[in-house]
Amino acid sequence: MRGWRIGRIMGIDIAVDLGWFVIVLLMVYTLGFREFPRELNPDALRPRADLTSLALGVAASLLLFASVLAHELSHSWMAQQRGIGVKRITLFIFGGVAQIASEPDRPLSEFLIAIMGPLMSVALAAVLGALWLWLRIVNATGILGVSLTPLILLTNILFQVNGSLALFNLAPGFPLDGGRVFRALLWGITRDIRRATRWATRAGKLLALILIGAGGWLFWTEMNGNGIWYTLIGVFLWNAASEGYRQTVLLETLRGVSVGQLMTRGVETAPPDISIAEFVDRHLLPRRDLSFVVTDGSAFLGLIGMQQLKRVPRAQWTSRRVRDVMTPSARLQPLNPNDTAANALTRLANADAAELPVVAAGQVIGFLGQSELARYLKLKGE
Ligand SMILES: [Zn+2]
Repeated sequence: MRGWRIGRIMGIDIAVDLGWFVIVLLMVYTLGFREFPRELNPDALRPRADLTSLALGVAASLLLFASVLAHELSHSWMAQQRGIGVKRITLFIFGGVAQIASEPDRPLSEFLIAIMGPLMSVALAAVLGALWLWLRIVNATGILGVSLTPLILLTNILFQVNGSLALFNLAPGFPLDGGRVFRALLWGITRDIRRATRWATRAGKLLALILIGAGGWLFWTEMNGNGIWYTLIGVFLWNAASEGYRQTVLLETLRGVSVGQLMTRGVETAPPDISIAEFVDRHLLPRRDLSFVVTDGSAFLGLIGMQQLKRVPRAQWTSRRVRDVMTPSARLQPLNPNDTAANALTRLANADAAELPVVAAGQVIGFLGQSELARYLKLKGE
């Protein structure tokens, strides 16, 4: 998922995508111009937006997303505790998603990571609900001499938001948090992640159908705009469930085979001190390889291929050398022949690379990329 980086917390990039801006603007409008003016002036026939209602609208929208962020950060914190890195958290139109570096390999990890988000939301809802009650009591006594209504409205909406976040995410359909908890339990009992995922995915699809059906019904019978929203979330959930299942089956298939078994053996080399033009003519054009190992005869210096060449303007092909353009070996995260192919897939995705070198005893012995994995999966499928 793409998006703009807005900050970094606990070593995790926080990003927002375009849909997030749309939803924040929509919320500021709905709350600041519609909801809050009405609730701040219950007696007025035509309540108007003022500075208070607008400030409240902005505060509520931002705190709402802070709530989503807190939920995702709790998942991420637990993932880090269980030794799984978190790349980034993206806030988007339906909430937030924490991108963890790999799927949990044990039911307990999956359970703990999945349950943390809803726990955080429940805790926030409890605190905000208590605060809301307390503010109402204080307001009713009138001892402060000022109206606490704005704060009451703010705590009320945040209480509701965190409560719904917890409730919705706890629904037992994969890949929602509740579905992941459900899968972790089935996985723990049956010791069969594929079967556990199949059942949790069915629950997720059932939930999606209910949302789509309820949304359609609301919209057609009552012309209720929320209906569209339910339907959209239902469709999103259906797709996520299918994708999640496919992903699990894929990883399971790749877990049973090693990098060494799938890699393309043998490497083409290129010397570090020839020009790019020379490299293209003598090495790149005559061969089919994607990447070449740059070596001075003994040491592995780096990699060069189409990916690196894209960054060099054609006019500089004669003046720049292979050494200047290659990705240095220190910046590469090579694969080990004993790694599982599932591991390699995750690493490829995280490195955003077409292929990665396989290194044993300091020497590149082959390459493994998406094409090798795809070939194996095709064979397996047949
Ligand atoms: Zn969650």
